[in-house]
Amino acid sequence: MTNKLIIGNWKMNGSRASIKALLAEIVAAEVAPGCEVVVCAPSPYLAMCAHILSGSGVRLGAQDLSAHESGAYTGEVSASMLREFGCHYVLIGHSERRTYHHENDAAVACKTVRALEAGLIPVVCVGETPHERESGQTEAVLSQQVLALTTALSSSQLTQIVIAYEPVWAIGTGHSASADTAQQAHATIRRYLNAPCSILYGGSVKPDNAAQLLAMPDIDGALIGGASLNAKAFLTIAHACL
Ligand code: PEP
Repeated sequence: MTNKLIIGNWKMNGSRASIKALLAEIVAAEVAPGCEVVVCAPSPYLAMCAHILSGSGVRLGAQDLSAHESGAYTGEVSASMLREFGCHYVLIGHSERRTYHHENDAAVACKTVRALEAGLIPVVCVGETPHERESGQTEAVLSQQVLALTTALSSSQLTQIVIAYEPVWAIGTGHSASADTAQQAHATIRRYLNAPCSILYGGSVKPDNAAQLLAMPDIDGALIGGASLNAKAFLTIAHACL
């Protein structure tokens, strides 16, 4: 049985009440065998989510972490803090962080190392912008983003990370990459990584396109933004792993 990973990225959405209601539905649902479900909550809600999820098969993730271990970094949250509060996964280098917070490949690699040191599974996001795709630079961009990781991580660390291929033009636009386009990018990433990592697809995954994407040989799961805020849609996508 193939192991698929389905991760919800709630971004900066939700409230105590809405998150409780969303998790109640997710926890009550039966998770498909061979499918791991993860939710990445905003930091203030992590402890509450860890409490609700304890004893369930659903894992918790954070959306970012500090590149530093501890110290005078006001506003930052360290990897060990996330681990202590029940996180198993952490998103790193989401395109929104690369764009709005100017995170470059070196910072992403550094955060990835911090996560691994603390026992978190880093989910490193890579992907090209619309301009980069249109100008034929997709492979060059992906190889550069992967190179930052293969340079910073040991070969055993590399086997412990998850990659999320998220073409920037597909995030939040309603226009997913086609299954063939995504498969091609995943195969490229796999070739440059040269390590047995899971590679997830993210970018407008919805209940009606999930099965087609997840059926591709190099797509090991999905990272879901908008649709993960709706329990029914999220669970339908998770069931597409079957
Ligand atoms: C994301 O932001 O990681 C994402 C994939 O968003 P959406 O599913 O809304 O495109």
